[in-house]
Amino acid sequence: MKIYQIASIPGDGIGKEVIPEGEKVLQVIAEINQGIGFQFERFDWGGDYYRKHGVMMPENGLDAIRHKDAILFGSAGDPNIPDHITLWGLRLKICQGFDQYANVRPTRILPGIETPLRHCTRDQLNWVIVRENSEGEYAGLGGRAHQGHPIEVASDMSILTRVGVERIQRFAFQLARSRPRKHLTVITKSNAQRHGMVMWDEIAWQVSKEFPDVTWDKELVDAATARMVNRPESLDTVVATNLHADVLSDLAAALAGSLGIAPTGNIDPERRYPSMFEPIHGSAFDIMGKGLANPIGTFWSIVMLLEHLGETSSAQQLMKAIELVTANPKFHTRDLGGDAMMSDVTAAVCTALKK
Ligand code: NAD
Ligand code: MN
Repeated sequence: MKIYQIASIPGDGIGKEVIPEGEKVLQVIAEINQGIGFQFERFDWGGDYYRKHGVMMPENGLDAIRHKDAILFGSAGDPNIPDHITLWGLRLKICQGFDQYANVRPTRILPGIETPLRHCTRDQLNWVIVRENSEGEYAGLGGRAHQGHPIEVASDMSILTRVGVERIQRFAFQLARSRPRKHLTVITKSNAQRHGMVMWDEIAWQVSKEFPDVTWDKELVDAATARMVNRPESLDTVVATNLHADVLSDLAAALAGSLGIAPTGNIDPERRYPSMFEPIHGSAFDIMGKGLANPIGTFWSIVMLLEHLGETSSAQQLMKAIELVTANPKFHTRDLGGDAMMSDVTAAVCTALKK
């Protein structure tokens, strides 16, 4: 019997609601699969922790989760704490501390879910966006001086390294190769950003030589937004810098029906550290504490977690259960135009799993 050690970090807002639902689903997976089990250690890091201790997580927090098999994360973001503090103090601390340099975001229109795209059928939208997760625009370099004075100055420097660009491009080409279409679109902005993005393009071209069986093209990030809307079927695997992919993937989530459904994995492909799986949505202040959150984004993230652990058949079981449930409008939460509660959706997924 294999027992996986999972660090669970609900964080803030609806993160505190959806993560316990995710734990329940994993327990059902353990019940129906004799060979595996999950042991959760829950960490109360986030906004409340900050109010008590002045930091989002303890100084040596990474040591407490370093040896886990995976991390299940909710959301960081509190109505009374500035967003850059909650983000940098928790989520980015883990992503960067564990060098989870590949952020992977699958996007599909699940059965029963409506896309705002009028002419798009379910099979025409099937993407994986790979986001560079360790440097670029969110490298954290920059500064601010003369605050409040007319001569005030602020800067954020985007940093791209050859090592950083090569490893994410290689990861993306590999992922593209593993999918039926074997096609990669490299997102760039080398017309305007004439240093880093030009190197990004050059490295894409160099890495592509290692993957003669993968076709690829290049698209400027602004044009890519239009292409996602107008020609969704022309895209398959997509790789972009930290900021570009951040924006594109929220658009992708909306085109696939709701932010409440979309999953993501922050992956350390070399497996030196645990990888972290989370719904892409935030704390959703407007609905927190009401039991209205859609837990599907968390469940789909757990599918990715299971795949990462090599538990392919459990991952497939869960994905099937999710699709069975989304296909039934009775189990649509408010973000999908329905009136189901979060707990109804969880119960339905657990029932589907047991069948
Ligand atoms: P958000 O994702 O929290 O909410 C955007 C909208 O989508 C809201 O109307 C919300 O009700 C809805 N929504 C999101 N998830 C939903 C779900 N599961 N079910 C139903 N509806 C859902 O984004 P925001 O409002 O920009 O940010 C709120 C806070 O969350 C901020 O503090 C922000 O910094 C933080 N945030 C954190 C993360 C993260 O930790 N990964 C990501 C995004 C935002
Ligand atoms: Mn984002």
